[in-house]
Amino acid sequence: MKQSELFTKTRRENPTDEVSRNAQLLIRAGFIHKEMAGVYEFLPLGLRVLRKIEAIIREEMDRIGGREVFLSALQNPEMWEATNRWSDDAVDNWFKTHLKNGTEVGLGFTHEEPITAIMKQHISSYRDLPVYSYQIQTKFRNEERAKSGIMRGREFLMKDLYSFNENEADLDAFYERCAEAYTTIFERVGIGAITFKTFASGGIFSKYSHEFQALSDAGEDTIYLSREKNIAVNEEVYTDEVLSDLGLDRAALEKKTSIEVGNIFKLGTRFSEALGLFYMDQSGRAKPVVMGSYGIGPTRLMGTIVETLCDDRGIVWPKSVAPFRAHLLSLGEDRVALLWYEKLAHLGIDVLFDDREGSAGEKFADSDLIGIPYRIVLSKRSLQHGGAEVKERSKSEATMCSFEEVVNLLKS
Ligand code: ATP
Ligand code: MG
Repeated sequence: MKQSELFTKTRRENPTDEVSRNAQLLIRAGFIHKEMAGVYEFLPLGLRVLRKIEAIIREEMDRIGGREVFLSALQNPEMWEATNRWSDDAVDNWFKTHLKNGTEVGLGFTHEEPITAIMKQHISSYRDLPVYSYQIQTKFRNEERAKSGIMRGREFLMKDLYSFNENEADLDAFYERCAEAYTTIFERVGIGAITFKTFASGGIFSKYSHEFQALSDAGEDTIYLSREKNIAVNEEVYTDEVLSDLGLDRAALEKKTSIEVGNIFKLGTRFSEALGLFYMDQSGRAKPVVMGSYGIGPTRLMGTIVETLCDDRGIVWPKSVAPFRAHLLSLGEDRVALLWYEKLAHLGIDVLFDDREGSAGEKFADSDLIGIPYRIVLSKRSLQHGGAEVKERSKSEATMCSFEEVVNLLKS
């Protein structure tokens, strides 16, 4: 993509109404637009990142047997009344509205109820199980505070997977597989080293649920981390009883601020019993389906990547989710640069080509702000040295490379 044809502009100054680092940087670099508090729009660069994050999540969910669906945002109150989740006393973050005829509808903040209702049409026997189904879809939550940029939206993307099994043992086995898939996802998007499986409160059916918490001062959660065991305990269940249950020594735990990037939860039969999702087992007895739910916030994840990997010059995208692989800058060498751009594009390498007029200083500052992994500079000086000056965004030293060397580097 030619930068002259990208309509978004960068800004030098932070937006005054934004306190979170992720939103400040993403707005300044032209990835997102703020519509109102907690509501953000994704612009071309931001959408490219989001799509890459989604693709990684999708691959890992498909790998564990997830079947993708896309459910509606508008919700029928009846279903939610059946599970006692329609009233504002039970759920305090509903967005609700009315149809023209006066009927109330809600905007989905999660989708256990509708997916359970769907499965009633498709699951009737043990032969129909297991079923694993997920979506990447917009959720609405009337969050009280929305000061964390895209990490806490009132409208945001969630990947939510739901599992349907015959019994608890099968649920347990899938739950572990999904936890492993989550670990893979967080590694692939570049936050594996700072993300920890965390014991959190479990509800009625199981003792614990698990969160995936990424260490960051920008987080809203507090966890107690055991580096030795590679697990953590959420503050909400941090008691002597839980620590001894998990074999953790209080003195060896570090208190940390963190961001919940994912959450997996054993639901048991709470939803299947309330909504009537039963199956016939091998001996012909009707049993409630055993369920689990598994969430990741792709938009929160994107914000977390920005928060945890940025520096004082801007965003530093991991290669796996960067909007482009390379940022080609022409410093007064437009003809050669265009040739390089076209040849790289022809080789299938995603390049953002800064073909705009502007000083070297401005172009370098924009490139650092946008955070594409490789910066390739073509100038009179670099051409005299036989090629381009190449620098990784996360490193400080640059090297001179010929066109072939650049291709090899970008293809590796
Ligand atoms: P939190 O405790 O941070 O409010 P939650 O426990 O309510 O989150 P879940 O219902 O478990 O969140 O949602 C699954 C995932 O969706 C979370 O792990 C998070 O990644 C993401 N998520 C939840 N709420 C938001 C939000 N308001 N904005 C962006 N992502 C969110
Ligand atoms: Mg949660």
